Amino acid sequence: MSIEQRYRDVLDRIEAAAARVDRGVGDITLVSVTKTWPAETVLTAQQLGMRHFGENRAEELMEKRPIVEAALGPDSNITWHAIGALQSRKTNMIADSADVFHALERPKIAHRLSRRLVENGRAETGPLTVFIEVNLSGEESKSGLDCSDWESSAEQRQALRQLAELVQQLPGLAPRGLMTMAPWNVEDEVVRSVFRRARLLAYWLQEAAPDGHWAGLSMGMTDDFEIAIEEGATHVRVGRAIFGPRH
Ligand SMILES: *Cc1c(COP(=O)(O)O)cnc(C)c1O
Repeated sequence: MSIEQRYRDVLDRIEAAAARVDRGVGDITLVSVTKTWPAETVLTAQQLGMRHFGENRAEELMEKRPIVEAALGPDSNITWHAIGALQSRKTNMIADSADVFHALERPKIAHRLSRRLVENGRAETGPLTVFIEVNLSGEESKSGLDCSDWESSAEQRQALRQLAELVQQLPGLAPRGLMTMAPWNVEDEVVRSVFRRARLLAYWLQEAAPDGHWAGLSMGMTDDFEIAIEEGATHVRVGRAIFGPRH
């Protein structure tokens, strides 16, 4: 199958999943995950109508973005999403190259990003939109702020609220919502319950930190984006279903 065929198929599946729960596709952003694929693949995807691209490594984002911009000119209208966990020594790359960051999990990273966003002028011109990544499954291998027991743990809720309020206060950062990943190799119903709990947690946070916009939900990948949409995802991050197996 070509990228075009796969992309059409993904759009159809997004629309069908949204229709099942009476949602419109207008509030669902498809982030096409181009990690491991060259800048030429991004250009092909752009010609097919894709406008949101996701990269999980800061270096890859830094490398591809200028190539794509050089090819398309200044008005490419592309939004670049950094979706992967971030080490503190790479915060400058993300503050310089990403429009949206999906994986904030620590106050230290928020401070470092903000400092750079003031330095590079973006605190004035265009902030970095931020999702806080939460770990709801408690799996050690998963990144994200531990919210595995948030319904009964006041401590976990407090840590999330504090990070959210920090994002609201720091210059250059714009709150958008929560991001989560479902555990691997589990039944659909387990995936669904993780996504549902993320939605309830976002509701809770929106009330607990009302001055920020926290209602966004970045969840759902190739294997589970339809369940995520049924459970309220506003951003799905899809790679293999569009571009094929990664090499
Ligand atoms: C790779 C990646 C995706 C996309 O995964 P696919 O299974 O290819 O759809 C989504 N989110 C994150 C954080 C990723 O690293």
